[in-house]
Amino acid sequence: MTYNEFRTEAQRKLRDCTDVENPDFEISTIICHICGIGKARLLAIRGEEIPEKFVSPMLEAIERRVQHEPLQYIIGEWEFFGLRMFCGQGCLIPRPETELLVEKAIELIPKGGHFVDLCTGSGCISVAILNNRKDVTGTAVDISASALEYAKKNAQYHKVEKRLEIVNMPLEKYLPITVPDCIISNPPYVKTEDVDAFPPVMKFEPRIAFDGGHDGLEFYKTIAKRYSSRFLKEGGFLLLEAGYDTVREVEAILKYRKMQTEVLEDMFGVERVCIGKKVVSE
Ligand code: GLN
Repeated sequence: MTYNEFRTEAQRKLRDCTDVENPDFEISTIICHICGIGKARLLAIRGEEIPEKFVSPMLEAIERRVQHEPLQYIIGEWEFFGLRMFCGQGCLIPRPETELLVEKAIELIPKGGHFVDLCTGSGCISVAILNNRKDVTGTAVDISASALEYAKKNAQYHKVEKRLEIVNMPLEKYLPITVPDCIISNPPYVKTEDVDAFPPVMKFEPRIAFDGGHDGLEFYKTIAKRYSSRFLKEGGFLLLEAGYDTVREVEAILKYRKMQTEVLEDMFGVERVCIGKKVVSE
């Protein structure tokens, strides 16, 4: 079978798969991942025969995609903030809108500062910050041990593991040893009824990574209550990703805790991040 023939066959199989928006991109990504080649190389050899050993893994990958498994799980990695991040069943797939949280953290954490990343999942936020700020240390907290396996792997792969403490604990139990300069979180924030209505592709990701309770705000209430005063330095920041439909409610929660707030738009023009600053007492 040639690469071109494989593509035609894969296109046919993915034709009715509603969650595949760009079949050509997904097919190329699968071919390149399995054959260990770049996209430019694939273009050059598209008329050639596929080495026998790659054919069945490639067909199996397409079959998994037909069954709605996300592409990111099939290839086991995804790019986030320009960095390779490993991911798979048991952790949320890194999403581009979350890069805004990283951008802001890189800008706001003071020199030599310490951050805590609550509900870290794959650890992509912590690893991306530490990769860009060599002077900073962090603690990544998550209730899921399987998600933290990815966090550990990502920290090691990017050689930041010495500056990242990984803690397997629910966020309402975690007690920071060092009071952080910044608390960052992309917590589960989808309303329970919206999680119930997810398309099949999103059902592969852990429900606990999405479900923010009936109003989607459960985690913000806990975070604001626990981390807006005692466990945050004066002048420190809470940096929270939120749902397009809840970010202003998150802002209200932080205002209630007497924080100075700001809402930021992501790369898609959606209000996505709420920053709360702990005001220095007079
Ligand atoms: N951004 C995710 C989405 O696809 C939600 C992730 C979360 O709940 N933190 O809706």
